[in-house]
Amino acid sequence: MFEAFVPSYIATLAAYPPGKPLEELERELGITDSIKLASNENPLGPSPLALEAIRANLDRLHRYPDANNYYLKERLSRHLQVATSQLICGNGSDEILELIMRAFIQPGDEVISATPSFLMYGLLTQGAGGIFRSVPLKTYRVDLAGILQAITARTKVVIINNPNNPTGTVVTRQEWEDFLQRVPPHVLVVVDEAYIEFADTPTVPQGVEYLREDRPLLGLRTFSKAYGLAGLRVGYGYGPSTLVGFLERLRSPFSVNLLAQAAAVAALDDEAFLARTRQVVREGLAYLCAALDELGLRYVPTQANFLLIHLGRDSREIYERLLRQGVIIRAMGSYQLPEYIRVNAGLPAENQRFIASLRQVLGYAA
Ligand SMILES: *Cc1c(COP(=O)(O)O)cnc(C)c1O
Repeated sequence: MFEAFVPSYIATLAAYPPGKPLEELERELGITDSIKLASNENPLGPSPLALEAIRANLDRLHRYPDANNYYLKERLSRHLQVATSQLICGNGSDEILELIMRAFIQPGDEVISATPSFLMYGLLTQGAGGIFRSVPLKTYRVDLAGILQAITARTKVVIINNPNNPTGTVVTRQEWEDFLQRVPPHVLVVVDEAYIEFADTPTVPQGVEYLREDRPLLGLRTFSKAYGLAGLRVGYGYGPSTLVGFLERLRSPFSVNLLAQAAAVAALDDEAFLARTRQVVREGLAYLCAALDELGLRYVPTQANFLLIHLGRDSREIYERLLRQGVIIRAMGSYQLPEYIRVNAGLPAENQRFIASLRQVLGYAA
């Protein structure tokens, strides 16, 4: 019913893969100690300095947040060495992606990205009435040359996820610079750097190094992963002031709440937490890779905080059986990878429990 009330591209939108609250899942399974390695969250929890800033701001919750994200932009401006006019903060980087679609995409315009990559790119494109075209990865890596070939006169936006979710692969500096040189000037390039804090920079190119006032390039980053603030919803973008200005005019003024602004500033100051996060992820991935090698399972070498693992059989059933043991990972069917799972690095005990459960579920000897 009511299909006639919305454009057909809204009526046919696919829902984001649903999930139950952790507490509900545990209640149904009759367990209390589940581990979640499914959403690439930070296994150490939130940054302690961010938590302190949140506590210090609780009694100011009767106030509206600062509509201009003044202190957060000042802090980010120092962090990235860019002007505050080149920065936008959002309710997660998801909000900024949505603003990009609203600002630049009219019905019939094309958005190009890779596949498999972040599912939101296709959903948000369709939500704006755009046409989503995806270029398959080549040996699990974003094929920038293939994306260039796919660009048409109707292409308005190209989205590159670097490192790419769900593979963890990166584009090289040479590939990236060739791409920037050859991409037609009518195309806005968006580089989503949700996992850049885990990547091997400066070898891996960062969009901010290529920021110029006359280049249609926007970068997106988030506090949801390396900074451990996924539940607070805060992300940011950088780009030429004029492009950022268009997005700011569309943004709901109070989209980044008061606690999120304070916490994000503190998280940027929490260098010790970021260093510990990188280390726990590096060590966790090394453990997981060694254990998977031992099991003879293939995975994609990663520059992010997660691993794409090839099971060589339908992963949905493995996912269900791990779930019943309280080990929550991601089955990749919705990414068109029905034989794969994605697992993020957890704490050492979590990684060990995942491997032990996986061994059991796959029928390896105890
Ligand atoms: C997690 C993730 C984000 C972050 O989204 P937020 O809205 O900032 O939480 C963005 N892009 C990709 C590819 C991600 O995996």
